[in-house]
Amino acid sequence: MLPPIASRFVAGESDAAALERARRLNDRGVGAILNLLGEHYDRPERAGADADTYERLVGDIGRTDLDACVSVKPSQLGLDAGADTFRRTLSRVVDRADEAGVFVWIDMEDHTTTDATLDAFEAETRRHGGTVGVCLQANLRRTRADLERLAGLPGKVRLVKGAYDEPAEIAYTDHQRVNEAYRDHLGYLFRAFDGGVAVGSHDPAMIEHARGLHDEYGTDFEIQMLMGVREDAQFELAREFDVYQYAPYGSRWLSYFYRRVAERKENLAFAVRAIVN
Ligand code: FAD
Repeated sequence: MLPPIASRFVAGESDAAALERARRLNDRGVGAILNLLGEHYDRPERAGADADTYERLVGDIGRTDLDACVSVKPSQLGLDAGADTFRRTLSRVVDRADEAGVFVWIDMEDHTTTDATLDAFEAETRRHGGTVGVCLQANLRRTRADLERLAGLPGKVRLVKGAYDEPAEIAYTDHQRVNEAYRDHLGYLFRAFDGGVAVGSHDPAMIEHARGLHDEYGTDFEIQMLMGVREDAQFELAREFDVYQYAPYGSRWLSYFYRRVAERKENLAFAVRAIVN
C-alpha cells in the first residue's frame, strides 16, 4: 500500500486511484496527465504489460467526461529493447487512445533516446493528426534544431528544463544558462507554433515569461506541473489558463518518490507535514 508520506507526489497504486485523482483535479479546474510509473525494462514483456495497462486506462478515461490524458516514457514502452519494439508498443497505445479520444504525451528521457523518441513522435502524430505530444529539454544544446523540426508537425510540445545530468559537450550544465535557453525556446514556440505549447515548469519566472509571450503573440498554451509541487499555484493559475497536473501512479512509486525528495529537500518536509496535519 502507498504510505501517506508518498501520497503527496503519487496518486495511488491502481487505475481507480489515478482516475479518482483526475476527478478531484477536474473539480478544481485542473486537468490530469496520468503516468503509470515504470521505466527501463529490459524485457519486452514488461513493456507490453504497461502498454496493456495504458490501453485499459485510456479506455476507462474515454468512457468518462474526465479532462485527463496520459504520459508515457519511451523506456517504459520498450526502447531499451530496441527502437522497433518501442515504436510498435507506442503505436498500440496511441491507436487505442485515439479511438477513446484521449491525448498521449511522450516524456523525454536522457540524450541517448532523443532521436528515437522524436522519430516515434513524428510517425504517430502524422498518423493521428495531432493527438500526441512530446517533451523537449531546454538543457540540451540541440533543442532549438529539434523545435524547428517539430514546428511544421501537428501535435503538442512540452518544454521542460531537463531532469537528466547530461555531459557538458551536449548540454548546458549551468542553471542560469538553462534558464536563458528555456526563455529563448519559449519565445520560439510562441512565435513559430499555432498552439499546442505546454510550459512544463514550476518556475514563476518562466510562467510570467509565457504570459507575456501569450499577450504578445496570442498563441494558445497550457501550464503543466507535477503533483505535490506548488499545488496552490496550480489551482490559482487554473482560473486564468489551462493547467494540467502530471500525476504518477502505480506500484513502482519508490524511486520516483526518492527523486522528488532528492531534488528539493523541502519536499520531504512538505510530505511529512502532510501526514502530521
Ligand atoms: P526549477 O529550476 O527546478 O525551479 C525554479 C523555481 O520554481 C524555484 O526557484 C521555485 O521558485 C519553483 N519551484 C520549483 N520546485 C519547487 C517546489 N518543489 N516547491 C516550490 N517551488 C518550487 N524532465 C525531463 O527531462 N523529461 C520529461 O519528460 C519531463 N516531464 C516533465 C513534466 C512536467 C509536467 C514537469 C513539471 C516537469 C517535467 N520534467 C521532465 C522535469 C523538468 O525537466 C525539471 O527537472 C523540473 O520541472 C524542475 O524544473 P522547473 O522548471 O520546475 O524549475
